[in-house]
Amino acid sequence: SEKSRPGLLDGLDPEQRAAASAPRGPVCVLAGAGTGKTRTITHRIAHLIAAGHVSAGQVLAVTFTTRAAGEMRTRLRGLGIDAAQALTFHAAARRQLRYFWPRVVGDRPWDLLDNKFRLVAQAATRVRLSTETEVLRDLASEIEWSKASLVSPEDYPAVAARTQRDTPAPAAQVAEVYRQYEEIKTSAQLLDFDDLLLHTTAVLEEHEAVATEFRDRYRCFVVDEYQDVTPLQQRLLDAWLGGRDDLTVVGDANQTIYSFGGASPRPLLEFTRRFPEATVIRLERDYRSTPQVVSLANQVIGAARGRPAGSRLKLVGQRAPGPEPRFAEYEDEAAEAAAAARRVRELLDGGATASEIAVLFRINAQSEAYEQALTEAGIPYLVRGGERFFARSEVRQAMSALRVASGDPTGPDLVTAVRSALAKVGLTEQPPAGGAAKERWDALLAIVELAEELAASVAEADLPRFVAELDQRAAAQHPPTVEGVTLASLHAAKGLEWDAVFLVGLSEGTMPILHADGDEAAIEEERRLFYVGVTRAREHLSLSWSLSRTPGGRRNRRRSRFLYGLIPEDHPAARIARSQGKPAAGVTARCRLCGGPLLETMEVKLGRCSRCPSTVDEGLLEKLKAWRGERSRELKVPAFVVFTDATLMAIAEQRPTDDGAL
Ligand code: ATP
Ligand code: MG
Repeated sequence: SEKSRPGLLDGLDPEQRAAASAPRGPVCVLAGAGTGKTRTITHRIAHLIAAGHVSAGQVLAVTFTTRAAGEMRTRLRGLGIDAAQALTFHAAARRQLRYFWPRVVGDRPWDLLDNKFRLVAQAATRVRLSTETEVLRDLASEIEWSKASLVSPEDYPAVAARTQRDTPAPAAQVAEVYRQYEEIKTSAQLLDFDDLLLHTTAVLEEHEAVATEFRDRYRCFVVDEYQDVTPLQQRLLDAWLGGRDDLTVVGDANQTIYSFGGASPRPLLEFTRRFPEATVIRLERDYRSTPQVVSLANQVIGAARGRPAGSRLKLVGQRAPGPEPRFAEYEDEAAEAAAAARRVRELLDGGATASEIAVLFRINAQSEAYEQALTEAGIPYLVRGGERFFARSEVRQAMSALRVASGDPTGPDLVTAVRSALAKVGLTEQPPAGGAAKERWDALLAIVELAEELAASVAEADLPRFVAELDQRAAAQHPPTVEGVTLASLHAAKGLEWDAVFLVGLSEGTMPILHADGDEAAIEEERRLFYVGVTRAREHLSLSWSLSRTPGGRRNRRRSRFLYGLIPEDHPAARIARSQGKPAAGVTARCRLCGGPLLETMEVKLGRCSRCPSTVDEGLLEKLKAWRGERSRELKVPAFVVFTDATLMAIAEQRPTDDGAL
């Protein structure tokens, strides 16, 4: 019944089409990875515009990472829509604040804080707390969590007590650091990232005229990856809506990966409670990945505990079969990275494009080994940290150097002017060996390449024009990219896809991250992160891990618990029988599968069989002991421990095992 551009909805399946063509009003799409949620919302935007319901300029689409926002813009452009805004929550708020600030505060907006740590350190010093890096990091993330959760310094102690938060210091002291941090920041007239959202919300909530103007301008809101919304972002969204209901949300509760930062899938899962008349659509066909990848993804998330109702959809693969996922174990990280680089080279030689390949890791520190291995193999890769490209100090220095140079009307041509300006801020002819220096160099080179691009595409490209282009990109948080293999953290990879994905460093302590051990909620979040990683691959998926960090170092790492049950039985890695670690003192447990003595590796607090690849994590053993009324620290559990995944699952769910062991 809707009139729309012919063919606009052709590329959608019936459920996707129903969501895309639903009338104006609340729409919610709940579905797994790769089912076309992002595709559906971009088509919905296109459809609403084509059908004349809204103009492109009245649409505001938001998501959580810069890359995902970039991806949305690319897809919208593919549908012929340039004017719709697709931004991160932060970029949208920043833009709005810049526009409204002069009117409500009467000055230009405050600058963004570029070194949060320094301020937290000052605040901690005032409160006489330790300024060790680790403590500061914990305090900084606690402040971030509080702001994202709309918890003020005054409320913090009570909230921390009520929710039994694991606070980095006594709650009253954390609250005081938080208060001091806010005070120092305000008196220096600086804003942190969360302030962008807080201030924008406050402006809209408190200034009627501004809110009216805003709501007149924006009429249609779309949120991708809605499972990761924080209370603060939800409040901003509500301020945007101002009681209206023209809101489309899509998400997958199994991909909630920011709950440590205050995000919750609840607004997604309870969308119809708020909008009872909402159109709700579920999708389960996976268009992204081969059936092999889909089946692995289903296994990974099927093992998750405590999944909320509404998140238990199973993905059904739609694509033709492809290669089997590869599993591989290496002696150390360098060997693992070198092997990944070799495999990337093979794929490239086989006709793959570098930009269709990604190496994904848990923490940014892992990037270095891969940067080095790819550099040695002569393979180009993307500058890491694209998110904050324009916040980098060398980039800001470069921009001011360019600005100064652009004041000289008799300057040389652009490909030369840019190079000579950037030489002043550290762009050398040859790249430095690696590490932070190489990263800075890459960032500067990306600017040069952007200038080359502009010079090639525009006849009268000059320096002022280039500076304007950079300013525009900075405002849109649209960093320049180098063509190459993507190196990214799993968090930054959300919503994206590549033909070939390397999930690396799948060892205990890294994936799941060490501090998640023993905390079930944290382990489940790590599992979802792993699921996000697996579901990024269209065809080739490689999963690897290494036994030691340094070449010839102690082999004190173990493969990730998430891999058990995934590795095919006949794979060499499934049969490893290396003895590793030493029998834990006082332990009488034996593996019922093969009778081998249980070993305990202190670093990862895991019990493991010395002969077969069975494992049991300490959390489960603790539970077992509790049920048996055992008080002893000794693991006297040989009578009923069968270390198979099926048994572990049965134990976790407190039901009898198949062989009646419990
Ligand atoms: P994620 O949860 O990872 O964000 P998603 O649900 O947003 O995934 P999309 O990225 O929109 O999924 O789609 C995954 C891939 O499948 C994309 O390459 C998309 O173009 C393709 N796709 C989606 N729907 C269809 C369809 N009906 N026909 C063909 N291809 C499709
Ligand atoms: Mg998506």
